[in-house]
Formats: sequence, structure tokens, C-alpha cells
Amino acid sequence: MTSPRKAVKTAGRIRAGVQRLVFLGPPGSGKGTAASWISRRLKISHVSTGEIFRHEIASLTRTGKLMQRFMARGQLVPDDVVTKMVDRWLGRHGIAGFAFDGFPRTLPQGRLFRDLLRQRGLALDAVVYLNASRSVVEEHVLGRRVCEDCGENFHLQNRQPRRKGICDLCDGRLVRRPDDSLKMLQRRWAVFEEQTAGLVDFYREPGLLIEVDSNCTPERMCRRVWEAIT
Ligand code: AMP
Repeated sequence: MTSPRKAVKTAGRIRAGVQRLVFLGPPGSGKGTAASWISRRLKISHVSTGEIFRHEIASLTRTGKLMQRFMARGQLVPDDVVTKMVDRWLGRHGIAGFAFDGFPRTLPQGRLFRDLLRQRGLALDAVVYLNASRSVVEEHVLGRRVCEDCGENFHLQNRQPRRKGICDLCDGRLVRRPDDSLKMLQRRWAVFEEQTAGLVDFYREPGLLIEVDSNCTPERMCRRVWEAIT
């Protein structure tokens, strides 16, 4: 496999220096796993909007309570709430590289994100679209366990932690996400098709989209993503 340093220099899709990536895909397609793996390899920030919201909810903040109403129904949090949060994040860390996972999730978010980046003289290097079938997504979601401290994803069969129920990265407790039920997956899948799938063409048009088949093990998916972006 190519080393991160070499990959950065190979230009093509990932330009020299900073990398700015977005991971797009249906729920359970592997966005969190791939974004976490790639960001550790490239030493860029992994930003999961879903994970930030889960922390807000766990911390019982006002925003957290607002978000819970939407997340508990499998709906998207309103665009203005999400984009304000991303704007703040870019204000603090924008110069650094990033792997956004789960953002943008609607066309308005995509347009606003483009504008926010432009205002700062920044642009995306690539958008990785993880394409997974409904049955594979179901298997991923039903067996998924998430670290309640750092948000790292594990799986009861496909990515077992070294110690049962304990995160390999930070020793946090692994829990099941409340929205990882079959009923909620149905809603989230429908939301993806209705509100998010349009972003595939939005990013294909300027030549940013890289499609990766994620109907495979997490290791193979990460390898495929790595090979595709370098
Ligand atoms: P995820 O962890 O990416 O699967 O997101 C979990 C939930 O957080 C989603 O089902 C949405 O309710 C909410 N969420 C995460 N990211 C966004 C976003 N960019 N826009 C709106 N809602 C989001």
C-alpha cells in the first residue's frame, strides 16, 4: 500500500499538502469507519456531524434536546443548525485537512458548504461515495457497536474489538446506537434516498466524486478507498 506521504505527493485526486474530503453514502455504508481510518492515516480531522450530535444529546444541552427530537425519528436535523455548526468548525480549524462524515446530507447543505469553503478560499479535494446494497447496510447497522466516548465503530462479526465491549482506541464502552434498529433503518434509508442521494450528481458534475463499492469487509473497504483517493 502507498504511504500517506507518497499519496499526498502523487497529486491527481489528493493534492499536495492539505486534504479536504467528504464521505457520502447511505446509513451503515461505512462512512464512519472509512473516514476514521483515512483521517488517521492522512493525519487530518475526522468530523462526524452525527457523532457531535450524539455528544450534545448525551451532555443534555439545549441544542442536544432539539436534535434528539429529529434523530429519534430518523429525520435529519435542520440544515441551518448543521451548517452553523460546520461554519463554526471551519472558523476554528478550516486551514487544516478534514474528512467530513455525514455532512453535507442535503443539497442545500452541499451548496452552503461550497460557499463556506469559497469564502475562506478553500475547496474540496474529493468526495468519496460509499455505495452499499440495502442488505449489506442492514447487516452493518444491526451488528454495529459504537464507542460512547470517541465514537469509533465496531461490529459484532466484521470488526470485533480486541476486548469484548471495550473500544480499542480509548477503552470507552461500546454501545448500540438507538437509531440502529431495523425500523429506524427503514426511515433513514428513505431519508437518504429522498434528501441525500441528489448530492451524488452534485459532486459528480465538478469531477469530485469517487465511487467505492462498500459491499465488503471494513478492511477491504478502507483499502479500496485508499487506493481510489491516492
Ligand atoms: P450518522 O451518525 O451520520 O448516521 O447521523 C445520525 C443522525 O444524525 C442522522 O440520522 C441525522 O438525524 C443526524 N445528522 C447527522 N448529520 C446530519 C446532517 N449533515 N444533516 C442533518 N442531520 C444530520
